[in-house]
Amino acid sequence: MSQGFPQRRARMEYVCMNCGHRHPVDQLLYTCPDCGGVLLLEDLDFDEMKEKGAQYWRDLFDARRATRHTALRGIFRFYELMAPVLEEEDIVYLGEGDTPIIEASAALQKHVGRRFAYKNDGMNPSASFKDRGMAGAYSYLKSLVRKNGWDEVLTICASTGDTSAAAAMYGAYVGDPIRTVVLLPHGKVTPAQLAQPLGSGAQVLEVPGVFDDCMKVVEYLADHYRVALLNSKNSWRVLGQESYAYEAAQWYGWNMGDKALFMPIGNAGNITSMISACLKMYRLGIIEELPHIVGVQTHHADPVWRYYSQPRESRVYETVKVKPSVAQAAMIGAPVSFPRVKNLVDKYEALGGRFDVVQVTEQAIMDSMILVNRYGNIACTQGGESFAGMLKAMEMGILRDDEFCILDSTAHALKFAGFQNMYFEDSFPEEYGVKARPELVNHPQLLLTAEERAAMPAEDFTRAAAEAVAKAAGLAVKA
Ligand SMILES: *Cc1c(COP(=O)(O)O)cnc(C)c1O
Ligand SMILES: [Zn+2]
Repeated sequence: MSQGFPQRRARMEYVCMNCGHRHPVDQLLYTCPDCGGVLLLEDLDFDEMKEKGAQYWRDLFDARRATRHTALRGIFRFYELMAPVLEEEDIVYLGEGDTPIIEASAALQKHVGRRFAYKNDGMNPSASFKDRGMAGAYSYLKSLVRKNGWDEVLTICASTGDTSAAAAMYGAYVGDPIRTVVLLPHGKVTPAQLAQPLGSGAQVLEVPGVFDDCMKVVEYLADHYRVALLNSKNSWRVLGQESYAYEAAQWYGWNMGDKALFMPIGNAGNITSMISACLKMYRLGIIEELPHIVGVQTHHADPVWRYYSQPRESRVYETVKVKPSVAQAAMIGAPVSFPRVKNLVDKYEALGGRFDVVQVTEQAIMDSMILVNRYGNIACTQGGESFAGMLKAMEMGILRDDEFCILDSTAHALKFAGFQNMYFEDSFPEEYGVKARPELVNHPQLLLTAEERAAMPAEDFTRAAAEAVAKAAGLAVKA
């Protein structure tokens, strides 16, 4: 197997999910110039890949796990499936992708009564899966800069926190001529998520409101000003995020028939990517069976669940007004990628794939996050949502007994430590509707006060503190 940069180049086009019109990829489009619909990227020469046979592609991607080509170490291990229009020099790699799949602790699997694993996408460089999409979008942007000789590119994104962290980090790394602006709903991102774009030196702008408001502002900007939009309307991001499903399939030897993939849905970009990726692998025969895909939404932001929970013949899609959610990164009432999901789910089901969306409560999300972390897994609130979704799916009887669940923990738990604190202090504002379960609460214990320490001779402190530790932890004296 060749370890060089891939030879394959393809013709790609944007396809509109609304009117079906096609547009060339030589410019950055967010929406269809003809009707305003959202777009997906399509490889017109995709079927040529079938000629090599499925095993060729499996072997190639497997061999590439050992590559020393920086450009192929991250999401572009699957270059041919994603963006075979980029050159090696365009590709931005900051260590994204190739995140571990860790089987849940034996005790937790026993507790739940089902085998499952977490794919820890919080192990990405800015600690969320958004890095996958940003590596895609910035690589494409670099190719445009190279081809057009641009000397200034301003990027902007609205964000529930993680998109801006990723955009700012990649923007800072690529540097000139790219400059990054992020727009946040004031007070609606966690302190860690706010620290990230500030630390990367991005211009951080805030407006009052929620994410859906910020999204409208950046859409207005993209329509009226020269600016590169980095929200998930940007289909290069959706393409980059396909790498998650490719990695999951590869990890299990390309066997997906007995897997159920759980993922939280916010703007519905990530679930779009997952469905799209599974369809591509299936069409090439790289996987022989489609996995069961289960999207999860909180009852405080559940437009996609509402749509799919209606009888198939008479489904009506309506956006919702969100209520505060601990799954803050998924607190979206008007997901921009909904038309993409609908389009791809129809194709998925036509090929025999199973797709479900389940709804979970805020209480279940928080209990789940706290619980799984106590078993040594790493779950953010959205990762808790995935787990709560699995419990819900079990309760509803929509999982087969042989299905092994892979839960997406979309960000690192540390980004959402504030919600953990609120749980431990049982201090959730009324609107969340979350109460702490006492058995899951944990607090630090101060053993000696500063006054007690000051009152004792300095040389007594170590022994006094050690005795207090031994007493608090129940240590036995050495015989
Ligand atoms: C963005 C995000 C989500 C939601 O993903 P969508 O693509 O918007 O559906 C979930 N979890 C985390 C941590 C995120 O940053
Ligand atoms: Zn259109």
